[in-house]
Amino acid sequence: MEVKVRQIMDQHFGFLDFKMGQEQIIDSILHSRDTLGIMPTGGGKSLCYQLPALVLPGLALVISPLIALMKDQVDALNDQGINASYINSSLNHSELYNRLDKARRGYYKLLYVAPERLESENFTDLLQELPLSLVAVDEAHCVSQWGHDFRPSYLGIGAWISSLPQRPIVAAFTATATPRVEEDIIKLLGLEQPVVFINSFDRPNLYFSVHKGVDRSSFINRYLKEHPDYPGIIYAATRKEVDSLFDELTKQGFSAGKYHAGLSNAERSCYQEAFIYDQIKVMAATNAFGLGIDKSNVRFVIHHNMPRHLEAYYQEAGRAGRDGQEADCILLYQAQDILIQKFLIEQGILSPSRKEMEYAKLQDMIDYCHTSHCLRKYILEYFGEGGVPEHCQQCANCMERELRDITIEAQKIFSCIVRMKQAYGSKLIASVLKGSKQKRIIELGFDRLSTYGIMSELSTASIIDLINLLAAEDYLSISSGKYPVVTLTPRARPVLRSQEQIILSLPKIPQAAAPESNLFEALRELRLQIARQQGLPPYVVFPDITLREMATYLPQDREAMLKINGVGQVKFERYGEQFLDIIRRYTK
Ligand code: ADP
Ligand code: MG
Ligand code: ZN
Repeated sequence: MEVKVRQIMDQHFGFLDFKMGQEQIIDSILHSRDTLGIMPTGGGKSLCYQLPALVLPGLALVISPLIALMKDQVDALNDQGINASYINSSLNHSELYNRLDKARRGYYKLLYVAPERLESENFTDLLQELPLSLVAVDEAHCVSQWGHDFRPSYLGIGAWISSLPQRPIVAAFTATATPRVEEDIIKLLGLEQPVVFINSFDRPNLYFSVHKGVDRSSFINRYLKEHPDYPGIIYAATRKEVDSLFDELTKQGFSAGKYHAGLSNAERSCYQEAFIYDQIKVMAATNAFGLGIDKSNVRFVIHHNMPRHLEAYYQEAGRAGRDGQEADCILLYQAQDILIQKFLIEQGILSPSRKEMEYAKLQDMIDYCHTSHCLRKYILEYFGEGGVPEHCQQCANCMERELRDITIEAQKIFSCIVRMKQAYGSKLIASVLKGSKQKRIIELGFDRLSTYGIMSELSTASIIDLINLLAAEDYLSISSGKYPVVTLTPRARPVLRSQEQIILSLPKIPQAAAPESNLFEALRELRLQIARQQGLPPYVVFPDITLREMATYLPQDREAMLKINGVGQVKFERYGEQFLDIIRRYTK
C-alpha cells in the first residue's frame, strides 16, 4: 500500500516527500478510519484526500464551500492527469447529467460538490447510486457556529451521510482548531471514532511584523516599490477604506484590484480572476476576500487595520506563502483600529456573554500589536501550542531592532493616571496629557491637574499608542468591556519613583528582498505563456517554489528534472522539455 501511495504521489503530484502530518492522515484514511485533519493553511490538506481518492476503488466525493475554488482545484487535478470534476449551481441541466453519468460509469476519481447540493433530494437520489469510497469535507469548521465562516448547509452533511446505503469513510479538514470547533465537527458531521490529527500551526516561512504609528500610505507605497514582483493582499477594515486604498494604489500606478461585499458579483469575480491569474499584483480587500483562495504565491499580506481577533488575523495573514517560500505578514497598527472593532462588536447582535468574549479576544489582538516579545511565539501560544522557543529569529521582534527609552513618557502617563484617580479610559487620559480643551475635561477639572498638557508635543493618537504599549508590557492594565478603564499595575510603581527605566526595542522596517535571478524570470515568463494557452492560473502549471528549485539546481535532463519538487511524470510529459530548453540555454 505504502509503495503504491508513493508511486501515485510521484507520478501525479511530483512531490518528493510528504509534508508534516500528511502521511499519517492518508494512512488513517486508507485504513478505513474516519479522520479529522487539522492543519494550518498551506499545510497541504488537499493531498490528504486526493491521494486516498486515487488509491481507493470507486469515487471520492469532496464537499467544499466555494464554487470558484472548485474549478481551480479540478483544473489543477486534470492538469496532473487525474479525472475529476465538480457539480455546482454554475452548471446547466445537460452538463449536470453528463457529469453524473460519467461519475456513475466510474470515469471520475474525485467529484467536488457544494454543500447546498445535498439539500436537493433530486441530487441526493442520484448520489445514492454512486459507489462512494470516501467523503471528504473541506473547510469543515463551516459546520460550527463557533467558527467564523458558519454555513448552515454544512449542517445537512451528517444526516445525508447516514442516509447512504453504504457508509463511506468520512474525512474532515480544517485550519481552525479551537476545541469547541473540533467537537462540533465530530458531532455534527457524525464522525465515527475518528482519528484526530493536529499539526503544529507554525508557518516557519512567514515573517511577522507589526508597525505602530507609521503613515500607512507611505509605508505601503514604499513596500510595493521595493517589491515590484510580489503578488500580495492588503486587508482593510471597511469597504470605504478598501475603495480609497484601491484609488490610491491605482493613482500611484500599481497594478491593483479590489474586493468587498459592496461590489457586484461580476466585478468581484473579475478582480479575483485577474489576481489569481497574476494579471494584477495587489488586491485591496475586506475580510470578505479569501476563504479558500488557493493562490500559492502570495508573497505578502499587509493588514492596513488591526483585525478583530487573532483567529481572523492568522487566517488572513496565512494566505501568504502557501508554497512554503518566504513571505511577509505585516500589520500596520493604529490606536483608532480599536474603535472600529469595538463599534463592530457593539453593532453585532451578540449575547452579553459572547460580547464579553469578543472583547477579551480583541484585547489579545491588541496585545499582539504591542508585545515586544517573539510574535510567532505569541500566536502559537494563543492557539494553545506548548514548548514554543523564546525566539524564532524569523519575526520582526526577534530580529534587529531599535532601542527606545520611554521612561519619561511613561512617568508622565502614570502620574496623570494616578491624578485622575485611575478611573478613566485611554482616550480621556491622552486628551488630558495632550491638553485638550474638551468640555468634559473642563467639567471634571482635569485642566487644573499638574499633568495637563505635559505631552502636548505628541498627537492624542500616539499618546494612546504609548498607553497601549505600556499595557502590553504589563505596566498598565486595561479593563475589558465597552468603557475600559486604565489602571497602574505594580510594575509601574518603581518607574514612577525613578527606580527603574523602560527601554523597549521596536522593529525596523523590512528591507527589500534580493532581486530574482534572470533564469527565474525567464521560467516565469514561460509559465505565464503556457498558463495563458491552457487557461490555467500560472501557479497551477508550476508553483513558484518549483521554478525556484529549477533555477537553483539547473536540471539538464528528464531524470534530473523529475527530482525537482513539484515535477511529476505527468507534468514532465506536458511541460518538461520546454522548461529544460530554457535552463539548458541559460547554463550554456
Ligand atoms: P491547505 O488546503 O492545507 O491550505 P493545500 O492543499 O492548498 O493546503 O496545499 C498548499 C500547497 O502545498 C500547494 O501549493 C500544494 O501543491 C503544496 N503541497 C502539498 N503537499 C505537498 C508536498 N507533500 N510536497 C510539496 N508541496 C506540497
Ligand atoms: Mg485547502
Ligand atoms: Zn520571533
